[in-house]
Amino acid sequence: MPHDTPLIATIVAGLGLAFIFGALANRFKVPPLVGYLIAGVLVGPNTPGFVADQELALELAEIGVILLMFGVGLHFSLKDLLSVRAIAVPGAVVQISFATVLGVGLAWMLGWSLGAGLVFGLALSVASTVVLLRALQERRMIETERGRIAVGWLIVEDLAMVLALVLLPALAGVLGGEQQAATQSPNILALRFDVGVWGVLGITLAKVVAFVVLMMVVGRRIIPWLLHYVAHTGSRELFRLSVLAIALGVAFGAAKLFGVSLALGAFFAGMVMSESELSHQAAEETLPLRDAFSVLFFVSVGMLFDPTSLLSNTWPILGTLFIILIGKSVAAFLIVIAFGYPIATALIISASLAQIGEFSFMLAGLGVSLDLLPEQGRDLILAGAILSIVLNPLAFAGAARLKPWLEKRAGNVPETVEAVPIGPATEPGEVATITAVPVKDDEDAPPPPTKMTGHTILIGYGRVGSLVGQSLKAAGIEFLVIEDADKTIAKLKSEGIETVAGNAVKGEVFASANAAGAKRLILAIPNAFEAGQIILKAKTTNPEMVIIARAHSDAEVDHLTGLGADKVIMGEREIARGIVEQVMTSVSPANTPTPETPPAAA
Ligand code: AMP
Repeated sequence: MPHDTPLIATIVAGLGLAFIFGALANRFKVPPLVGYLIAGVLVGPNTPGFVADQELALELAEIGVILLMFGVGLHFSLKDLLSVRAIAVPGAVVQISFATVLGVGLAWMLGWSLGAGLVFGLALSVASTVVLLRALQERRMIETERGRIAVGWLIVEDLAMVLALVLLPALAGVLGGEQQAATQSPNILALRFDVGVWGVLGITLAKVVAFVVLMMVVGRRIIPWLLHYVAHTGSRELFRLSVLAIALGVAFGAAKLFGVSLALGAFFAGMVMSESELSHQAAEETLPLRDAFSVLFFVSVGMLFDPTSLLSNTWPILGTLFIILIGKSVAAFLIVIAFGYPIATALIISASLAQIGEFSFMLAGLGVSLDLLPEQGRDLILAGAILSIVLNPLAFAGAARLKPWLEKRAGNVPETVEAVPIGPATEPGEVATITAVPVKDDEDAPPPPTKMTGHTILIGYGRVGSLVGQSLKAAGIEFLVIEDADKTIAKLKSEGIETVAGNAVKGEVFASANAAGAKRLILAIPNAFEAGQIILKAKTTNPEMVIIARAHSDAEVDHLTGLGADKVIMGEREIARGIVEQVMTSVSPANTPTPETPPAAA
């Protein structure tokens, strides 16, 4: 491999091997991210053969973090963020404190200093943005209440880490490490003028506040305006470019000028852009890049990992894993329950946070450079990260298994209050319980079954489904909607349309719509893979039901027809039909001929 093109070599080797091992993992029914991590280990310095550039891989991975957080911001409003602060702030603070105490405990057992323990514990306390967001996206949870709680929690953790990263150099001397030279500090001003730890803290917080205010006051006006201006130029290329330039530019500026993390900067850029009606398209423009770069994140994590450390450090690694998987989860679970959320929500939040990633590496790197954390600490953090990321899908599976058991233990739940164990006591009757907290909606509880029969089931109420729904309503055709985005569900309810909330791919959600007694199924969702799964289910439940589906290509039309759809409408073909109709009308408005339309879909 030529050494003069390290960037190209890293991207090619990273993406190429990630593809091969991701596909193999998929073949063996293992999550593809395990394949990406293995690809990283193979191109890393700890295995023989080609070695990709580690620094470059990490920087490329940061682009993945930026685009992911930007994408999440696009689905968030300030109101959404504030609506979860009551749980996210105390949740993250308690969890960070708990994990740090456990980290200090393990450090003490390994004979490290208190300072080392603090850095180690902090590094174990913060979850990876990439892992968490991908896990939520795969489960279509970002736009649900529990998704918002997890994202809010992540943002608080992010802020805490921004503070930790600037305070550590200032505190290193006190904690038994090396006071860092002022020029290397992210808060040069603060140290040069020797404002002390409180000064550093104050300046950092002031910068974060200044950034948020600037985004909310100035960014909120300029960014949507810029987007509209570019959209009006009619150049798709320029539109794409503007979205990327804004996402990356704001994130980078936030980091360089305001000391805010890249992820947080990107989140705010997305949130501000979400005010524009073009945000839907903006999100789509960044998807391919986002996916490619977040794969590079896993490759870069794999590169840092030394497989031999598993043998030389077995017990400390197990201790580290225990803190990440069990310690953090128990803390998160208890606090979510204490706030009156259902067990299912608490389990999902715990599972999504039971891993560590990019911030942990940054803290570990800084800790070692400040002489606070021994090299062994960094190795443990790296091993803990890769293993917890591999085990994360299992954490979700474990949460799903634990749910019925925990719910049973919680006993018969009264209408408005939930009794849940919060203490170690396990005997019935001796369990410490919280009973005074109102229970929030349980998103996992199967939706109540409909009483409708002979009806039409409309899945998806977005750009397509809402138009279909309005026409069905006008024609007096009885229908219900299955939809999984919270905001759309609220809108449907306010319009008095019967709605089954949830992902239609899930058996219990689909069953609640009484498919067995329905006359017609309309799939107005854009994802043909999901639509295919639903058709299979519908055909087994009710072979008589007429199925109309939506597609975007001839291949999708064939796929859905092959699975049993009676009629598949291909979006692009219908657009052409509409255009032809317009042309024909304008050619001879008095005597409109039947337009020559492309052949109808299956
Ligand atoms: P659009 O592409 O604008 O027509 O929007 C599609 C709508 O379908 C969105 O509101 C999605 O939330 C919804 N949707 C997509 N997939 C599913 C699914 N599997 N179950 C329920 N709703 C879905």
